[in-house]
Amino acid sequence: MKLFAQKDAEAYVKTGAGEFRYNRDTRITPGAKDVLSEAGIKVVFDADGAAGTTPAPAAAQALTGNSADLRLFNSKESQVLKEQICDMGRRIWMREYCDGNGGNISVRIAPDRFIVTPTGVSKGFMTPEMLSLVDIKGNQLAGTWKRSSEFTTHAAIYDTTPAAVAVCHAHPVHVGAFAVKGMQPPPRLIPELEVFVGTVPVAIYQTPGTPEVANSLRPLAPQHQSIIMGNHGLICWGKSIEDAYFKMEITDAYCRTVLLAQAIPGSSSIPGPALGELLAIKKKMGLPDDRFDLKPAQLCEVDPWQEMCGSHGCASPVTPWNPMTLDANASDAEREALVQRLTDEIVARLTK
Ligand SMILES: [Zn+2]
Repeated sequence: MKLFAQKDAEAYVKTGAGEFRYNRDTRITPGAKDVLSEAGIKVVFDADGAAGTTPAPAAAQALTGNSADLRLFNSKESQVLKEQICDMGRRIWMREYCDGNGGNISVRIAPDRFIVTPTGVSKGFMTPEMLSLVDIKGNQLAGTWKRSSEFTTHAAIYDTTPAAVAVCHAHPVHVGAFAVKGMQPPPRLIPELEVFVGTVPVAIYQTPGTPEVANSLRPLAPQHQSIIMGNHGLICWGKSIEDAYFKMEITDAYCRTVLLAQAIPGSSSIPGPALGELLAIKKKMGLPDDRFDLKPAQLCEVDPWQEMCGSHGCASPVTPWNPMTLDANASDAEREALVQRLTDEIVARLTK
């Protein structure tokens, strides 16, 4: 049993918090209650936490939290970020990128301080007081709701990638289709992905929330803002909360288009030199990509549609070579050459 006395209350008032939560493990003295109510702080007793929520560490966190951390956590800047996170959670839920309590969002507010979403809560229905403050090791420094168990995964990105300000993880289904196949979406199909996201690698499956997941992302994060977590979901980082979310939206829209396109015969892709132009634009924008040093020929070595299906034994969406599909603009010489090639092939077979 912890005792929360008048002097603790006076220290708590200085943090600027608007609410004080405590549970059955904490006893508040009458003097402390007076100090809190005089300061207009709402005192909330939560015996052992409502079903599905974990406010138990509330009082302990508030009591042991460093006052600088509490000030940071309750600052106006934090409030803006907390509201942005809740807003992004709603957008993730409305786009059906998260299921049940899945997904998590975090933002770096100071070099080793992050605001993160709670565990056990639908990301579409969060309020700012459900968020918490943690350090890069995942230690909860402020906030009354238990932080997401997957923050350690976010930490791997923050640790290896100083440019990462926010991280967003969810389970969008079109990306999920690639995740369950352990397959990287084929490149060179839509400029939006090439410029704003780049190649989307697949990190090998590991049990969610374990250090192994974090380790699987470490080598990929500095050059990839959007990474598929094998048999799991998608994790994206950005220069802001919305930027991280945009990477997710662009990646899922791309995967969705690729999956739909598979039902349509034929194939086309962005040629290597044109992709080089897109990458030049990207470089100017200061975005990372692992293909900046490749030559145009290296950029288009593999046909994306062949890559999509070639080695997986599925019905190939790539139109087999067929003289009937010869381009309508083909010259007479090309047509003649084609007819000659066909004739030669037939004659060769007949004379075998
Ligand atoms: Zn997940």
